[in-house]
Amino acid sequence: MQRVAILGATGSIGASALDVIARHPGRLRADVLAAGSRVDALVALCRIHEPRHAVIADATCYTALRDGLAGAGLATQPHAGSDALDALVASDACDTVVAAIVGAAGLASTLAAARAGKRLLLANKESLVLAGELLVQAAQAGGARIVPVDSEHNAIHQCLAGCEDRAALARITLTASGGPFRGHDRAALASVTPAQAVAHPTWSMGPKISVDSATLMNKGLEVIEAHHLFGLPGEHIGVLVHPQSLVHSFVDFIDGSTLAQLGLPDMRTALAVGFGWPDRIASGVGRLDLLAQGGRLDFEPPDLEAFPCLALAYQALQAGGTAPAMLNAANEEAVSAFLQGEIGFLCIPDTVAATLDALPARPAESIEALLAADAQARTLARAHIATLASARTSIHA
Ligand code: NAD
Ligand code: MG
Repeated sequence: MQRVAILGATGSIGASALDVIARHPGRLRADVLAAGSRVDALVALCRIHEPRHAVIADATCYTALRDGLAGAGLATQPHAGSDALDALVASDACDTVVAAIVGAAGLASTLAAARAGKRLLLANKESLVLAGELLVQAAQAGGARIVPVDSEHNAIHQCLAGCEDRAALARITLTASGGPFRGHDRAALASVTPAQAVAHPTWSMGPKISVDSATLMNKGLEVIEAHHLFGLPGEHIGVLVHPQSLVHSFVDFIDGSTLAQLGLPDMRTALAVGFGWPDRIASGVGRLDLLAQGGRLDFEPPDLEAFPCLALAYQALQAGGTAPAMLNAANEEAVSAFLQGEIGFLCIPDTVAATLDALPARPAESIEALLAADAQARTLARAHIATLASARTSIHA
């Protein structure tokens, strides 16, 4: 029996993971469920899945969690705070960890799972962008098996099965849906709203990654993620827009072969690969019927002028050191401000570019150095956002 901890249980990936687990009662058990601050949603999940432990990251919510679990007559043990989460992840309460917290907030628990040698289903791409080298080293030292749970990287992981010699790998190409604003130019993007940005054409996801998909920063973060997972330089990682979201990525080998993985856009496939690997287990996702899907697969290059975030991510990867951590931090702040209606859509790349321009990349030898760069970038990005927001208010006034 695999005892699973789901970090970010109340989110989109969390729901997909619980769906796959419920299909395999003899093989998988959700023993730890963790969420940020939504106690009611967490207690509701505990009623259904009856985990041994429930963790709420926001420590002020402890009493509400304890009383909610007791009121539901559950034996689930309540915990609160990020230290409690990290300790539980590293303990023998679980052997498999689904890292699906959104943003840099997921770094500590993801690292704890890597150090403790867990099977790590890694959805929290921001932790790889922020501290990819240290995270991969920690997984190697701790004996953790990382299975990427990002559809593109999961596709590449599948295509690389049986390929022990990484020198045989020539190039990878990440596919991108293009998001809800594919085909828009900068003038059209200036007035798009948060509601339009989160309405993704092919995937159903949480709000932050949906906005990242709309700006193409998601693909930029994924280029950096792929660099750390598969050991390729940025020049050997390409991006192709593929609006149907059926081909999840390509791998080119030195012999001229290209392998791809295809499937319906549903994260339960990647999660089932993560839980079962190298076995295949059922996920609940239907079979791909290309004719029923319209009978065509289209590809086009990304528009880097309208969507500069992708180019900024390549630049940050090239600069190395603390640059990707600062890119990620500035982006998180800008996306949050956009979702709250403080700034316009084009201010997201503007804020990221201004932050990277102002803060040169430094070497990133330690987690402390990376977290300091993250904090510095957030302060600078927030100051930039405040200027943009007040300019916006005075225009509207
Ligand atoms: P979501 O917003 O739906 O869920 C986020 C989860 O994180 C929630 O359960 C929330 O309670 C929890 N959380 C937030 N802050 C926290 C904190 N400080 N401590 C503990 N928990 C906290 O997001 P999502 O779409 O499920 O995405 C989760 C991660 O998976 C992101 O890193 C995203 O990039 C990645 N991912 C998602 C998808 C997808 O299809 N949704 C695909 C690929 C990768
Ligand atoms: Mg992806």
